[in-house]
Amino acid sequence: MMDYPLTLSAILERAGKYFGDMEIVSRRPDRSLYRYTFRDFYQRARRLAECLTAAGLKRGDRVATLMWNHSAHFEAYFGITAAGGVLHPLNLRLHPDEIAYIVNHAQDRFLIVDEVLLPVLEKIESQIKLERIFVVRHGQPAQPGPYEDYEQWLQQASGHFEPPRLSEHDGASMCFTSGTTGNPKGVLYSHRALVLHSFMQASADACALSQRDVLLIGSSMFHVNAWGFPYTAAMVGAKLVFPGSQLDAASLLELMEQEHVTITCAVPTVWLTMLALLDERGTHWKLPQDVRILCGGTAPPESLIRGLDRHGFHIIHSWGMTETSPMATVSRLRPSMSTWQEEKQYEVRTKQGWPLPFVDVRITTPDGEAPCDGTTPGEIEVRGPWVAAGYYNAPASKDRWTSDGWFRTGDVATMDAEGCIKIVDRSKDLIKSGGEWISSADLENALMSHPSVREAAVIAAPHVKWQERPLAVVQLKSGASATPDELRAFLGAKFAKWQLPDDFVFVSELPHTSTGKLLKMELRKEYANWQWSGSDK
Ligand code: ADP
Repeated sequence: MMDYPLTLSAILERAGKYFGDMEIVSRRPDRSLYRYTFRDFYQRARRLAECLTAAGLKRGDRVATLMWNHSAHFEAYFGITAAGGVLHPLNLRLHPDEIAYIVNHAQDRFLIVDEVLLPVLEKIESQIKLERIFVVRHGQPAQPGPYEDYEQWLQQASGHFEPPRLSEHDGASMCFTSGTTGNPKGVLYSHRALVLHSFMQASADACALSQRDVLLIGSSMFHVNAWGFPYTAAMVGAKLVFPGSQLDAASLLELMEQEHVTITCAVPTVWLTMLALLDERGTHWKLPQDVRILCGGTAPPESLIRGLDRHGFHIIHSWGMTETSPMATVSRLRPSMSTWQEEKQYEVRTKQGWPLPFVDVRITTPDGEAPCDGTTPGEIEVRGPWVAAGYYNAPASKDRWTSDGWFRTGDVATMDAEGCIKIVDRSKDLIKSGGEWISSADLENALMSHPSVREAAVIAAPHVKWQERPLAVVQLKSGASATPDELRAFLGAKFAKWQLPDDFVFVSELPHTSTGKLLKMELRKEYANWQWSGSDK
């Protein structure tokens, strides 16, 4: 067979050649919708590639983007890589010092930035050195100032771009993990990894993405390449809808209604708000039915999956990481489960599911590989063609990979006899009480299905007798009330007595990382000296 390189350039050429009439809809900062086609996108991406080449971009050079979810960002995804460069989307929610660290570590040469995000750039400018900065103004006229105008720059292109011959092993994109501890770490994705991830993502038992779909990009384009969806959509020719900076539930619903969206993606936090909106005034919108939602980043609670099903929105639960491009497993019901009772089906859908093709998963304990019994927890280790083999320029972090080539994820899970995995916690986050494991994730899930609870975290707090006991930190819904005894009784229906949190703390807000994950480290620090209220504690 031919040794044909798997590159994003081939996807771009295909999109321009075969899907020219397909529509792209993009929301501008003033909320108006901008519509154009794959044909225009193709030409503009190639213009960008031509301009970058003329500016001296060399193969492998990094080009940073500081942008929301919109069509210009989509063009950068393909234009930068077509020129042989590496797209480096910056997470604008990080602390400025962290963004500056990331730009410097990646040695970004150029930056494309949204005009509305210039205040973020101003906060880091003294700490970074970029050769040229281009401002995207979404149809607004160029302004005098220290930076170049993106549209004027693109107009300098002749429209005749001779793409370089790339290797599928060349770098195409780079993302940093949010890093709740230490400095953020970079993952450099190869063309090959992103192309293979796209094939997998489009496949029927993953997201079944096709040219019949209308895809709303609801996960941030600066977070693991919007989970790879822009690449997959261009490969299959799906209509694309970009929500701009308005990633809140109500704005997404509006777009779903107007554009007849069939598939979308975002973290559970977004869907929790959306479910509340739908429950409150679902009839306000004329919503499409059978919308698929790729959901991951944290485990969606069962109550969320059930609630959205009632409104015709169906969560496809997936687990992955920045280091796995990100999709590594997906939880889809198997045909043999179609006759199961609803309870059991939902139980499967809250699990992280089965490894995707070419992703090898094993569960490791200090005593070796865990038995596939669905109960023995251990660390998930993965390997595969879209799993990182190392962090970018970070030799000190080599110990995240085993000597036989597996990546240590830091997630703790069980695997059953059929190979289905269930995350029970992150490492160091399981509660070990008197030698017995308690899953914080299960308790949190159950607490979040209580009608008064908005969000809950269960952490291990030190205990004289049991070494550790579960402490629940709970945010109630506004106007709702619940006592510790009520919550304990509620959990008592599902958990053994010894597994129940001994104490409940009520807070007005829980701390989150920039990507919406609970910052448990912070909670653990805050409650490190917790005085248990019970007499024998
Ligand atoms: P992302 O949030 O896009 O998956 P990150 O690299 O920021 O990527 O975070 C990865 C971590 O998020 C995983 O190691 C795991 O702890 C958690 N995570 C991701 N998906 C899930 C899921 N479906 N269920 C539980 N935890 C998840």
